[in-house]
Amino acid sequence: MPLDEKEFNKKMDEVKEKLQKSVIVPEQLTRKSKMKFRCYPGIACFTKCCSGIKINLTPYDIFRLKNRLGMSSHDFLLQHTVPGSVDGTPLPIVVLKMKEDAERSCPFVTPEGCTVYTDRPVTCRYYPIGMAIMKKYDRKTGEDFFIKIKEDHCLGHNEEKEWTIEEWRADQESDLYDEMNKDWMEVVLKTKTLGIVELGQKSLDLFFMFSSNLDMVRDFIFNSNFLNAYEIEPDVIEKIKEDELELLKFSLKWLRFTMYGEGDFKVSAEARQIAKERQAAKAREKMDLKQKAVEKALAKTPEEIMKEADRGE
Ligand code: SF4
Ligand code: SF4
Repeated sequence: MPLDEKEFNKKMDEVKEKLQKSVIVPEQLTRKSKMKFRCYPGIACFTKCCSGIKINLTPYDIFRLKNRLGMSSHDFLLQHTVPGSVDGTPLPIVVLKMKEDAERSCPFVTPEGCTVYTDRPVTCRYYPIGMAIMKKYDRKTGEDFFIKIKEDHCLGHNEEKEWTIEEWRADQESDLYDEMNKDWMEVVLKTKTLGIVELGQKSLDLFFMFSSNLDMVRDFIFNSNFLNAYEIEPDVIEKIKEDELELLKFSLKWLRFTMYGEGDFKVSAEARQIAKERQAAKAREKMDLKQKAVEKALAKTPEEIMKEADRGE
């Protein structure tokens, strides 16, 4: 039922009020847009942004943090994360576990600042420029776009230092993080875009493992039939064996391939042959069952058939 004018105006006022309260500045920024901002130890709001927040962890965040802390994937996940999901999707991920103090502070914040600063997650690096990922939704223009988050407690916006968004992102290494997470982000974006597509439990489990537990991924790749299933150059195998970052990049590429068929993985002739044999065996099994059922039916006497009909079989 359409709203009457009074109701319509009331709704519009509500929307306006919400926008006024929003911390998002309603302006579409590009890489060349300018902003004034500075964050430094000594600013009155120092570390005020490090509590009461939700930090979704990307695969590269976990890679950097677990190595910074000298922990295995398993121990890092157990000690520092809680389960979560990518907003608007069923994709399972992990979220940084905040302290249980009144402010719900980040476990890495101290009065002197962030104790893992050079390995801080990408969410901390984006701030106060949010949703750089939105560029992918705007494929028509092909241009990245960003939004500015302006919260009352953040005094960095009152500083005189001027940056382009590009300069700010380079300074914060946001581009590097985006590059490392590129294939993973494509899976997330595709899932968000396709929305209605139901992902099976197997895909969700794979996504979770590849997003969070690199040790388990290593085990999956090197201690299963994985390497026989694809045509992978020996030097690539050597590289991912020796270099954990290469393993991470390779695994995220494969995740994208296996979930959305994007990328250049080639199923090996051996795996194709095995799949063919499996299919043929299944077909044979089906035929045998049918044959047995026919033989059983033919072996019945007319009396047995009548009795079965009476019982409704
Ligand atoms: S990781 Fe560092 S920068 Fe990010 S919220 Fe925690 S203390 Fe702050
Ligand atoms: S609130 Fe803003 S200026 Fe203050 S420490 Fe956090 S990001 Fe920096």
